Amino acid sequence: MEVTFLGVGEACDERYPNTSVLVRGAGRTLLLDCGFSVPGGFFKRVQGADDLDAIWISHFHGDHFFGLPQLLLRLFETGRKKPLYFIGQSGIEDLVFQVMDLAYPSFSRKFGFELKFLIVDPGQEQRALGFKWQAAGTRHSQENLALGLDLDGCRLYYSGDGRPTSRNVEPAKGCELMIHEGFLLEGQIHGHGSVQGCLDFAREAGAKRLAIVHVQRDVRRREEERLKRLLESVSYCRAFLPVPGDVFTI
Ligand SMILES: [Zn+2]
Ligand SMILES: [Zn+2]
Repeated sequence: MEVTFLGVGEACDERYPNTSVLVRGAGRTLLLDCGFSVPGGFFKRVQGADDLDAIWISHFHGDHFFGLPQLLLRLFETGRKKPLYFIGQSGIEDLVFQVMDLAYPSFSRKFGFELKFLIVDPGQEQRALGFKWQAAGTRHSQENLALGLDLDGCRLYYSGDGRPTSRNVEPAKGCELMIHEGFLLEGQIHGHGSVQGCLDFAREAGAKRLAIVHVQRDVRRREEERLKRLLESVSYCRAFLPVPGDVFTI
């Protein structure tokens, strides 16, 4: 799997686009979340209108799916023909059409490509597009599904938003790369995790690498050096702070 960080920011960060990850593997291209500020970075790296197979939406906050109108508009304008899958929790079909209709009324009915929807229920495995998909809820202000994505025995874990619970260990177990939100350095805030909580969870799940994303913008600005030192001090996995454009092969 090749993993490209398109964005690493939280909802309102002026320096970093919203957290979003491009995954290539099994001859497929997947996009994990598509917030307000993601399409620009996506189209810098993906030019062909058909070079995208599926979009995973972790939950329905704007910094995770309000980039869809711009993304879909450009795919439409550039002549996409291939079906596009949306994968996530139940309700995803209604939300995708709602956000599209608000931004560009009736455009989705003119698309020259089909929108397909696949629900991944927590605790149940799905096989689609050559990958195995597993999901588990996190503690967030809205239902959020963390994703365990497997290809040929290699696992990527992507938290979306929220603190992990014991349910998240199974889809994260032994992952090559865990991408986890760490809104604060330590302590707790309603609906979000901390970097220290991510480190504890990565150790529990046996993650080999841990990428911290979605850090609260003022925390990242003020505490970036302390945060990097904390991550570098970890011995049980390689923990780091990615920036947009970073590419990893796992
Ligand atoms: Zn959220
Ligand atoms: Zn978010």
